Amino acid sequence: MNTLVFSFFILGLIIGSFLNVLVYRLRDAETLLGRSLCRHCQHQIRWYDNIPLISFVLLRGTCRDCETKISWQYPLVELLTGVLFAVVGALFLISGSALEWLEVLWLLGIVSMLMVIAAYDLRYMEIPLTVLVASGVITAIFLGAFWWLVPEPFFASRLWFGLLGGAAVGGFFFLLVWMSRETWMGWGDVWLGAVVGAVVGLHLALPMLTLSFGLGATVGLLAIARKKKALKSQIPFAPFLVIGTLATLFLSEAFPLFFRFYIW
Ligand SMILES: [Zn+2]
Repeated sequence: MNTLVFSFFILGLIIGSFLNVLVYRLRDAETLLGRSLCRHCQHQIRWYDNIPLISFVLLRGTCRDCETKISWQYPLVELLTGVLFAVVGALFLISGSALEWLEVLWLLGIVSMLMVIAAYDLRYMEIPLTVLVASGVITAIFLGAFWWLVPEPFFASRLWFGLLGGAAVGGFFFLLVWMSRETWMGWGDVWLGAVVGAVVGLHLALPMLTLSFGLGATVGLLAIARKKKALKSQIPFAPFLVIGTLATLFLSEAFPLFFRFYIW
């Protein structure tokens, strides 16, 4: 593994540890600054117990003070963010041009925000509006800047395909929510759909939706088969949409030839 990819992995671990804090503190509208406390006994967490991944293993997943089990969300979000950052570095930083760095920075932002959205939806069955708006804003800025910097006709540009993708996926989800009267998915999913549609662009909207719905249906059926969920109970959809989006972004970059058959 080269140094750059490894640095991205470490950066992802550190950012992931901050994203965990964000998931909890957004809910309670707490300040994002200040030291972390154990959510059970309120003891301040020592700096050496706050090292991403390593502390969870050394403490065997329990608080040093009250021995309450620490949520699996912590190491999982840290590890996933680390791995996803490393994948972004490995796939998208080839020549190291300014344009590449712009895209990489945007992708790291999108990966982080989508991680928070997925973890938050899993935990609270809700999509955090501030993070959703922020992901839309950085995507608009990136697509705008990309169009400004790359000389290509507007109707062939990434910005145009992003706008079309956002409108198509957002519009499709709007219909689903409206027709099902919010039983299949919620209004938050409509806005998330618009953002991820803009992120992948119209040319990759179909593979993204196929992956997301395929995964959602598989997990949903497995859950019903194991009688963990009743047919009518809601399953949070954002995590599947996030996985489908990131998988589409990364796979289409790694295997452009395969995806050419899918692009109309
Ligand atoms: Zn404790």
